[in-house]
Amino acid sequence: MSHSTTHQPSSSAPVHSTMMPAQLLITEILERARLLYREREIVSMLPVGRNEQGQPIAGRHSTTYGEVAQRALQLASALQAAGVQKGQRVATLAVNSYRHLEAYLGIPAMGGVLHTVNIRLHPQQIAWIINHAADKVLLIDNMFAAMIPVLQVACPTLEKIVVLGPLPQAIAGTEDYDAWLAQYEPLAQYPDLLETDAAGMCYTSGTTGNPKAVVYSHRSTILHSLTSAPRDALNVSQTDTVLPIVPMFHVNAWGLPYTCAMYGSRLVFSGPFNDGASLAALMQKEQVVITAGVPTIWMGLLQELDRAKAAGTPYQLPLERLVCGGAAAPESLIRAFYEHHQLKVVHAWGMTETHPLGTSSIRPADVPEGSDEYFQLSAKQGIPVPLVQLELIGEQGEVLPHDGKTMGQLLVRGPWVTQSYYGEDAADSFVTLNGQNWFVTGDIATLDERGFMHIEDRSKDLIKSGGEWISSVDMENELMAHPSILLAAVIAVSDPKWDERPLAVVRLKDDVQPPTHAELTDFLASKFAKWWLPDAYEFVDDIPIGSTGKFLKRELREKYKDYKMERKESKP
Ligand code: ADP
Repeated sequence: MSHSTTHQPSSSAPVHSTMMPAQLLITEILERARLLYREREIVSMLPVGRNEQGQPIAGRHSTTYGEVAQRALQLASALQAAGVQKGQRVATLAVNSYRHLEAYLGIPAMGGVLHTVNIRLHPQQIAWIINHAADKVLLIDNMFAAMIPVLQVACPTLEKIVVLGPLPQAIAGTEDYDAWLAQYEPLAQYPDLLETDAAGMCYTSGTTGNPKAVVYSHRSTILHSLTSAPRDALNVSQTDTVLPIVPMFHVNAWGLPYTCAMYGSRLVFSGPFNDGASLAALMQKEQVVITAGVPTIWMGLLQELDRAKAAGTPYQLPLERLVCGGAAAPESLIRAFYEHHQLKVVHAWGMTETHPLGTSSIRPADVPEGSDEYFQLSAKQGIPVPLVQLELIGEQGEVLPHDGKTMGQLLVRGPWVTQSYYGEDAADSFVTLNGQNWFVTGDIATLDERGFMHIEDRSKDLIKSGGEWISSVDMENELMAHPSILLAAVIAVSDPKWDERPLAVVRLKDDVQPPTHAELTDFLASKFAKWWLPDAYEFVDDIPIGSTGKFLKRELREKYKDYKMERKESKP
């Protein structure tokens, strides 16, 4: 038995916490994965060639957390050998896969900063972002190899380009990732890291302006993972299989790679295969329980599930939850999943600036599942997850009531909300309220008595008619509930009398007749004040959607900037 001495502290002295000041580090996630979940499977669908139409053919790759953790540590050693210093950026241009997960774990483990770059941008925009971040190393999927020569010329800070996956022919000045890793032993000792050290970097998708960067810390990542896992958030657990469809470049796939590795969930990555039919088949085969993506992904999945059901060959999906975020999920979509397929969509809201999870829309205990109130609340973005606070302010900075009706600028604060932008002075993105610093989201929202937040619009998309605001999001969601309408985007066009008036740009479902203006007015009339209703409808073949699943209203506003409302309706 060990000896200990006791002493009676003075009763008047302040008591100090006796708890260990353990740092909150991503290496903790890596170690858990390596030690506790080493047998747990990670499945990736990756291209293994092309069919006769030139489409990539999917191949199934299976590995384990144990192998991924070992390779992440080899990557950490390889980056050290390449001269990457603490705080330096390592970029990825990659689809969702086990190799990308190795980068998530290995780069921060050696003190580097994981910079996930959006693969869907134009190569010139990608080069701009890589240069802005001054990335030192780039890990790029073989399927984007065509971009390498452009980046080699345009990005002088890149000292090393490493290709993930085999290439038919090596590209000069690049390395093969697997061969590179094989040269290194797993990192034997972590460098000294502080929880406040930078660990990840993300640029906004630039839907309403130029992309801006935020830098996550080890601490913000750990706290975000801990808070994302519970049932009232994303519902990630060791017993489940999780398919993050949201790309790993889109706000770290909403943190799911870290959250799943922290809790040991079986992970399935769909790589580039994200159409409705591929996803439904994958979910069935891999028995996916939790999945997450943007509304356009769910629209594709719903069409496929409806088709299969109508054909008498419905999918058998053990899905417990489809997490929907990134843009507003129409109530009609949430209802259709539930009523046709007994599947539950859980709405979540967040931003690059919030790591991203801010709110989730979980059914309150007193609201029966399947009731009208349940669907109404599900279409809201939900209540804040623990440690996140929301507030609403008006145009003069005054705090607005939480009555579910008053629209205002949404403010957010919390341990994984950014307090500045990287390399940019954006003072108007922050305000002080009651002595506390808040991030100004640029979202216009309401908060109701229960604390449920509802996004009405982005401030740049709001329609200001006669001094009042019209929410384009609400109108779009109602229009998308119309049986003939697939997609609808409502934008402001300038009006000499009212300043701005709403124009609805509509994509119809295949093989349907366009509804008349009067029919659409009737359809919307019970839901909105008369002055909210669109003055005109334009039927188009497609609506531009950005790289992270949001309508590109900037483009639409540009296209229709000289629009004359008298035209009322276009010919389909
Ligand atoms: P960008 O700001 O460039 O589009 P982000 O991916 O960070 O890049 O987008 C964050 C924005 O996406 C939010 O400010 C909000 O407008 C929108 N958003 C995210 N989730 C939801 C949601 N569940 N419902 C409605 N809008 C959402």
